[in-house]
Amino acid sequence: MTLDEIITQLDIRAFFAKYGIAVKKQRGSECEGACPFCRDEKNFNFNPNNGLWKCWKCNESGNVVSFLKKLGHDNKAIKKILQEEAGFVILYRNSYGPEPPPDQ
Ligand SMILES: [Zn+2]
Repeated sequence: MTLDEIITQLDIRAFFAKYGIAVKKQRGSECEGACPFCRDEKNFNFNPNNGLWKCWKCNESGNVVSFLKKLGHDNKAIKKILQEEAGFVILYRNSYGPEPPPDQ
């Protein structure tokens, strides 16, 4: 699965909620909430249909990848976060042998 495919599978609303952006208002498909970067109360807009966001106060914008980048994650971490968000099964997980026995 490519990164783009993963992004289209994401529940963007739930994704941003995890990062503390509660939707305060919704107009059509546009959601409004507080910006995690400039702390403005209501100018962070995002659209769950295309996954794009923009803050009208600090003028930052992008998609979920640039959002995570701005939070300081590197590309490897971003891919991992998005895979987990999308429920993508990481196929190499068990390639080192069987699962260890559960703790007694
Ligand atoms: Zn902002």
